[in-house]
Amino acid sequence: MDKEEALRRLFGHQAFRDGQEELIDSILSGRDVLGIMPTGGGKSVCYQIPAVLLPGITIVVSPLISLMADQVAALKDTGVRAAYINSTLTMPQLRTVYSRMEAGAYQIVYVAPERLTAEGFLSVARRLNISLVAVDEAHCVSQWGQDFRPSYLHIADFLEQLPCRPVVAAFTATATDEVRQDIIRLLDLQDPCCVVTGFDRPNLFFKVLRPKNKPDALQALLLERKGKCGIVYCATRAAVDQLWEAVNRWGIPAARYHAGMSDEDRRENQDEFQYDRKPVMIATNAFGMGIDKSNVSFVIHYHMPKSPEAYYQEAGRAGRDGAPAECILLFSGGDVRTARFLIENGNENGDLTPEERSRILERDYKRLERMVGYCKTTECLRGYLLDYFGETHPEHCGNCSNCRASFVSEDITRQAQMILSCVKRIQDRLGYSVGGTLVVQVLRGSQDKRVLELGLDQLSTYGLLRQSSKAAVNDWVDCLESQGYLRTNPSHSTLELTDRAGEVLFSGKRVEMPVRKAKEATAPAAKTVPAPAEADEGLVDYLKSVRMDIAREERVPAYIVFSNATLMDMARKRPHTQAEFLEVSGVGAMKAERYGGRFLEAIRTYEEKVT
Ligand code: ADP
Ligand code: ZN
Repeated sequence: MDKEEALRRLFGHQAFRDGQEELIDSILSGRDVLGIMPTGGGKSVCYQIPAVLLPGITIVVSPLISLMADQVAALKDTGVRAAYINSTLTMPQLRTVYSRMEAGAYQIVYVAPERLTAEGFLSVARRLNISLVAVDEAHCVSQWGQDFRPSYLHIADFLEQLPCRPVVAAFTATATDEVRQDIIRLLDLQDPCCVVTGFDRPNLFFKVLRPKNKPDALQALLLERKGKCGIVYCATRAAVDQLWEAVNRWGIPAARYHAGMSDEDRRENQDEFQYDRKPVMIATNAFGMGIDKSNVSFVIHYHMPKSPEAYYQEAGRAGRDGAPAECILLFSGGDVRTARFLIENGNENGDLTPEERSRILERDYKRLERMVGYCKTTECLRGYLLDYFGETHPEHCGNCSNCRASFVSEDITRQAQMILSCVKRIQDRLGYSVGGTLVVQVLRGSQDKRVLELGLDQLSTYGLLRQSSKAAVNDWVDCLESQGYLRTNPSHSTLELTDRAGEVLFSGKRVEMPVRKAKEATAPAAKTVPAPAEADEGLVDYLKSVRMDIAREERVPAYIVFSNATLMDMARKRPHTQAEFLEVSGVGAMKAERYGGRFLEAIRTYEEKVT
């Protein structure tokens, strides 16, 4: 099996995302890596694929013991031999895992950081052939980060005590330079290949509201999103407790989570949320690091967080499955006071010198200022965040409340059909695809030499958009590309149809383009946009109920069976055979075999009943 095959067969993904391939290649060639990707960017496959391909065992260090069981269950579900070691195991269980480890039964083992330096674990580890040590949430090693864990400082000791140093791969979503330097130094990475992928998460819709009455605003938001899964973040424990009562009173089943609750209570609440028994989680920032629930469809901040780093990390827990999701912040002047209070009274950095403390305070104030800037800006919200993280971006994203307020959408379905069929005709005629410039020339009926030489003036789509300006046609092409109907082939810079183009060409799907409103327009901000209804919603719901049945039978959270994005794609593609089922994004060989029958049957049943 090679890496592409592993991606398809085990995880059901068709292509690598930005950065994944480079990180995997580096690990496989024996070089350390530091992967910096946003939450939801797909860090796990970067070590899970090497774990399957490398001869020895892979140890994954993760701070989140409460999630290990689910992560391991998900891996086993795809056919990977996996186990975990943390304080929830009983002695006999622990002994079994150790002896199976020594017998070579596992490809990947998740370990809590405290365990690494425990004598029992060390003596087993020294006898193993460890190919890779992957450190998840690697920023926990740094005091500069939000989530410093002293036990992370022992990772380097652990590595030193192994007879043969494995490849070390560190992953985090925190992008600041200080943290990056700390990770390299404190984990003792050797000449690591550093990959920082784009921080943009196009499927997230950003919105800032300044409601007069926050509880009322929250109630309205939650009722509008009833049945969907979401997180509400508050600044303090007291606020969590209060809101939790209120939200349940409003008839929305909610769980809660903060550091003042007992371990057992937290665990229970987390499970209620994780297993979709309670769709809404009310929590402080203590909740969420490493949460890999992929179907969170909104994150609401009831209070403004202290920094853009914290905001982006928390908001980024929405939409990890790639489906459209919302990040909404409820801002009020009082939030700034609360944040200042929390900064001044934070006791996270207990044993610092006065100089260090004042440097950290200064840094935190700067971050707070930028966070307030986000709440007040009238420019593109996504752009503001990407700026902060040092990334370039277009001036307007068209998918945040500020951009939406000054954009209206225009129906360009007809133009889209013409453009897509022109791309198809050219490809059919020449047997290869060409660049965007040539496509636009053909559509506009150009007499350019190249067009005539290739005989493209003979196509039925030649000159269809003769009346439109070149700039307009270019805009439409860009829009089709950003909406995923066209793609530019990175190696040849040619324009190609994607699988989704068929929805427009053959199924009459409507295409809308955000267009800037004329200056004088000061209409109220557009209402929150619903997710585009691409798949038959009835069918999606039906597939969800099948998923829920399976999840109950197997006692796993529903998203471990399939993510929402996968069910949506399934509803769009409506597979009828096992081979077609494998074409659905997120369906690997193992899952196809296990669940294919039931989902195929569900689709057939649905079609018979509805059509
Ligand atoms: P994180 O970087 O936050 O750890 P995960 O590894 O949990 O992110 O991945 C987030 C989601 O993206 C998961 O649902 C995963 O299945 C999906 N994903 C990862 N890699 C790909 C890929 N190459 N193509 C499509 N989806 C992917
Ligand atoms: Zn925007």
